[in-house]
Amino acid sequence: MEIVFDGHNDVLLQVRRRPGAGAWFLRRGRKGHVDLARARAGGLRGGLFAVFVPGPERSLEELVVPTGDGYEIPPLAPVDPDHAWSEAVAMLAAAHRLARASDGRVEVVRDARALASALAGDRLAVVLHLEGAERLDGADGFDDRLELAYAAGLRSLGLVWSRPNAFGHGVPFRFPSSPDTGPGLTTAGRRLVRACNDLGVLVDLAHLNARGFRDVARISRAPLVASHSAAHALAPSSRNLTDDQLAAIAASGGLVGITFHVGDVRADGRRDPRTPLEAIAAHAVYVADRIGVDHVALGSDFDGATVPRSLRDAEGLPRLLGALGAAGFDAAALRAVARENWLRVLRETWHAGAS
Ligand code: ZN
Repeated sequence: MEIVFDGHNDVLLQVRRRPGAGAWFLRRGRKGHVDLARARAGGLRGGLFAVFVPGPERSLEELVVPTGDGYEIPPLAPVDPDHAWSEAVAMLAAAHRLARASDGRVEVVRDARALASALAGDRLAVVLHLEGAERLDGADGFDDRLELAYAAGLRSLGLVWSRPNAFGHGVPFRFPSSPDTGPGLTTAGRRLVRACNDLGVLVDLAHLNARGFRDVARISRAPLVASHSAAHALAPSSRNLTDDQLAAIAASGGLVGITFHVGDVRADGRRDPRTPLEAIAAHAVYVADRIGVDHVALGSDFDGATVPRSLRDAEGLPRLLGALGAAGFDAAALRAVARENWLRVLRETWHAGAS
């Protein structure tokens, strides 16, 4: 079975929301997409675990407005940074508690060596990722909170989720739509990119608008990464990457984690769980043909997205890899997509900061 390192999940949000401080994660269950048993059964050995703090909206589905040929969600207001920070602290703490309760089966990894050894040693490697940096926006700027989050193991950060904050502007959810939906990074946002480069924290472009993407591409010294996105040419969602953006990612040595969210891989944008695995494979093929297989990876969005029913959960990953094989990826390409590209990019990003 292919070992998988995946670019995005919302497991920690489930740990925070569901009772029992994550004890359920260590037992086999059926709820959601990931628990330890199903991760192991599907070959999932590590990934970026998002620290994501939802806004005051009750549910995004309730906000969806159908349009002639798709949908839109009206722009979401910023969230209160102090509330978001205290929630983020709770989620970071929950991740460490979960690792401690796991008897060594789950490990929060902070460097490339620990990551490689976790994967080789059959432990689930948790890379802590902040999805939306507003939580770092304290009274004196972001420096203190970033330092503390780094000390707590944070190794990846998305400047925005799909709402504005002090650092930049996330794309509103809209289909069809260009990702060019507003202004670029703020001064603080540009400074945050440099601070992440200095620390060796990955800067994630998922959810960022086109001008913000361009600003990061200009400033950042690290490989460009969109952790859970797809190809705009196949599915014109505001969240997806245009051919120009794909070219910029390739030129930097970065990668695209292909999302499993059906609404972002379908040509009609519909959130239809009957979507076949081939729809995800088609995006992997497109990106590989366009910029090379070294820049294609997985970004499931497990526990944060609607995935194809035929995938069901983490245990279904071998079926997705089968679909990739059927779409033309050979054994070496499958290894690259399943884990090696992520490991290379994380190694380069983290090392650059440490040196
Ligand atoms: Zn996301």
